[in-house]
Amino acid sequence: MTHSAAKFQKKIHALADTFIQELQQKTRDIESKWQQYQSDKHTEMLPVLYRKTHGLIGSSQTFGFLELARVAGSLAQSLKPLQQNNGSMNAQQQDQIRQQIQELSHLSNGLEQGLTQNITRMLRGIIYPDSDTSCRIFVVDDDQEAAQELALQLNYFGYEVTVFDCLTAFCAVVKKEPHAIVLMNVEFSEDSLAGIRIMKEIRRELNESVQVMFLASNDDLSVRLEAARAGGAAYLTKPINSSELIDQLDSFIVPQTQEPSRVLMIDDSATMLAYHATVLELAGMVVKTVETLDAVMKTLLAFNPDVILIDVYMPECSGIELAKVIRQIDGLFSVPIVYLAAENDFNTQQEARHLAGDDFLVKPIDPKRLISAVAMRVRRARLLRGLMVRDGLTGLLNHTAIREQLEREIVRSGRLKTPLSLAMVDIDAFKEINDAYGHAAGDRVLKSLARLLKQRLRGTDTVGRYGGDEFAVIMTDTEAPDAANVVNEIRKVFSCLLHISDNQEFNVTFSCGIADIQHFSDAESLSDAADKVLADAKMKGRNQIAVNAGD
Ligand code: GH3
Ligand code: MG
Repeated sequence: MTHSAAKFQKKIHALADTFIQELQQKTRDIESKWQQYQSDKHTEMLPVLYRKTHGLIGSSQTFGFLELARVAGSLAQSLKPLQQNNGSMNAQQQDQIRQQIQELSHLSNGLEQGLTQNITRMLRGIIYPDSDTSCRIFVVDDDQEAAQELALQLNYFGYEVTVFDCLTAFCAVVKKEPHAIVLMNVEFSEDSLAGIRIMKEIRRELNESVQVMFLASNDDLSVRLEAARAGGAAYLTKPINSSELIDQLDSFIVPQTQEPSRVLMIDDSATMLAYHATVLELAGMVVKTVETLDAVMKTLLAFNPDVILIDVYMPECSGIELAKVIRQIDGLFSVPIVYLAAENDFNTQQEARHLAGDDFLVKPIDPKRLISAVAMRVRRARLLRGLMVRDGLTGLLNHTAIREQLEREIVRSGRLKTPLSLAMVDIDAFKEINDAYGHAAGDRVLKSLARLLKQRLRGTDTVGRYGGDEFAVIMTDTEAPDAANVVNEIRKVFSCLLHISDNQEFNVTFSCGIADIQHFSDAESLSDAADKVLADAKMKGRNQIAVNAGD
């Protein structure tokens, strides 16, 4: 079993143990509240009893205790009419409720027995991501110098690279790590097609396809054909254009390099929250859980979720009411909302969709289904949002979107009393690059800088294409001098990247101006201040960073 699978299963077992203890406590509570109601007949106790009973249905189903869920469901059905008719009931109804409570308490005391079996059933068929095989790259080439240079360029973009100059050594390692991505040179000194031959052998032996891209000195159709037969996903001719290679690599590794989905879950049951969060985290999502209404507003604004999951039944207000409020918050109008409910109640489903929310999942939700339902909604929402706010060439936020993001981040920093810096980055002499190497080469330079900025900055920083060859970077929780250090590291790396056009290699640099909200408190003056020192950096000779300290 992989490390992540073992960790996940251990967590689920621990949650189920907590759930059993809580459940026994809850049934005792229902028992004592019923007795109390029998003696004092306070009708305000009835909705409390109903809610407590109803709450047991979904969570019992989630952990596989179907009989318990059935009895809780029947008891909830018996309690429901009492709320409307002020508690009046005949002796037969009273007797039925007493028996149902007894049964509930009996079942909850014997829960441990079925637990292991239930969990095994729940976990069946889950695919565990293997955390050890993220995105290692093997470069195989007997030209050591070329291989080391390629590894260095890939390192700049955050890839972990191992270089092999000998096919035997590579074979031994790749058999142990078949999930690595292989950049295989076609020609070796002993054999002009050795790279292709060895990949065919490995493929046969491992009985599974290793992801491989071939690097070759010539563009011969018959060699390309052999490379494709050996499972080559791409065939790149030397000199290798690193931005083209990075694009290819990114398309292989999309799930890992995409920003993880951000899921906000609102539910009054801590155990249910922890269970669903554990399942979604297993799929690499970032999950924030909220148990109380007080915390909802604060978390909503700070977390910026891709999707919100809400439990329909909560003590302070219904999930549907809460969704209505969320929809009225600026910026959250289009975030998908998914309700989790214990019952397949058609009316509630209709109401939920009609009012504010997008979808409805009925508990118990199979872990695989939960993951795919959430992932699908995040993908769709991001796609729609992306069409409106992303720049087509670089995939970064466009001018309007980064300005809006800046306004939001300034408000948030003001509220949290945290620093914030804005860095304006502009490519040096970009007109000359376009003139010398062509517009297409210029576009590739823009893409490589966009890629590098995203790769090197923290997930909490935001990058946008401000216009032409100018990029804006919002760095939260960062004062200007620290921001300058970070951008300066990126400046150094960018100036080392080798760009290629028609076999001509060239380097490019950028200049940057930085200001922070300690000195410039609104978006307008902050961006003016950063632009002003950017112009100074250009005047002083370019390829440098300047900070505006407000004097
Ligand atoms: P400086 O160092 O002073 O910034 O000089 P510069 O040549 O970079 O001057 P400036 O920033 O004003 O020039 C931006 C150039 O970027 C002008 C325009 O032709 C080019 N440009 C704008 N958008 C694109 C694009 O999408 N692709 C390409 N290839 N070039 C673009
Ligand atoms: Mg420029």
